Amino acid sequence: MITQYSGISPKSDLLLLQRLSEKLKERSFLHINSTREGGGVAEILQRMVPLLNDMGLDTRWEIIEGDERFFDITKKIHNAFQGNLETITDDMWHHFFEVNKRNADRLNLDADAVLIHDPQPAPLIEFKKKGKWIWRCHIDVSRPIKEIYNHMEQYCERYDAAIFSVAKFAQAMPISEFIITPSIDPLGEKNKDLTKEEIEETAERLQIPLDRPIILQVSRFDRFKDPVGVIKAYKIAKKYNDCILVLAGSPATDDPEGEVVLNEVKEYAADTPDIHILLLPAFSDKDINALQRMATVILQKSLKEGFGLTVSEAMWKRKPIIGGATGGIPLQILHGVTGFLVHSIDGAAFRIRQLLSNPDMAKTIGESGREYVRKNFLITRQIRDYLSVWYSIEDENKGKSVLEL
Ligand code: UDP
Repeated sequence: MITQYSGISPKSDLLLLQRLSEKLKERSFLHINSTREGGGVAEILQRMVPLLNDMGLDTRWEIIEGDERFFDITKKIHNAFQGNLETITDDMWHHFFEVNKRNADRLNLDADAVLIHDPQPAPLIEFKKKGKWIWRCHIDVSRPIKEIYNHMEQYCERYDAAIFSVAKFAQAMPISEFIITPSIDPLGEKNKDLTKEEIEETAERLQIPLDRPIILQVSRFDRFKDPVGVIKAYKIAKKYNDCILVLAGSPATDDPEGEVVLNEVKEYAADTPDIHILLLPAFSDKDINALQRMATVILQKSLKEGFGLTVSEAMWKRKPIIGGATGGIPLQILHGVTGFLVHSIDGAAFRIRQLLSNPDMAKTIGESGREYVRKNFLITRQIRDYLSVWYSIEDENKGKSVLEL
């Protein structure tokens, strides 16, 4: 399977990957997160776990289970990490820990390296028996709500290392810290090439007309993704350039706010024709792929973002992308080269119009985006980095914080 990437991924990544997998062959590698579907973490793991196994590492992916209350609490922790004011009572913290404890009893936590994704399963560190444990934080924790972050620190600081997606997301910690950007899989259903017929079939089935330019945003119905802002920008642009808007997404199973936001979006779009709100079931990768390929301009107008995988997905399909200047989006969008960064609804509307009116510019930006993703954001590079971190902490106890370097 990994050999299928030659000719696609940079050769330097593949060579290093081969050497690292030889070093770590037959060792066990466990990933734990809180959902198998929806969101960027699940997206990456679905593809990475089989590849790691194919390279000879004994890799498992486990999910922690929790009740509604647990996910309400973890959503609050997630939001507080991103700077939203939230209150978590002692009773809620207790429940958060107890659910993790139940999961520790249920799951086999034995592995040579354990990668714990995000805050939800972070307390599992209390039940570590062996191996190297790495906390993989996908969220921007540069300005968290202190009280809530401080409570979580007791868990996070007990790991052997922490990995953040972007340097400025990191907090100073007394353990080794690493920066690894996420990635997309060029051979997965979400990103592989599709035929014109496949794209047209999807458009027909989802009732998306192909007679006008399509503006698209694919994301969970989450306020930080600013779906209402996208509609506002579209309403401005549409006054000058006839186009349609597609908002495609699904509420993630670990996100109880999804339905509320979706209703808000529907209400806001109700008075405007040509807005298509598509509720996609889980595992709609091929449909998302087709939607991204039929789009003329793709938006990821986030107000807060982890990395923003949808940006690389759009760029890989040679689409001009307009992204909110937040989180990992500026790492992918080099303003004016691989896309446009925006700070406002007016800015987004202006860039939509500019791209719709300049197809040559849209094409050049799309080509640059594709090459930029190939060099920096493919899954082979990310696996290379994970294995490098594991290999590098094998013999160490404590390292320096990146912020001290
Ligand atoms: N995605 C999906 N179905 C949806 C919405 C999004 O499969 O209804 C995918 C999307 O294509 C991307 C990932 O989920 O691969 C979202 O990752 P991103 O980093 O953009 O945002 P997150 O949801 O992790 O905040």
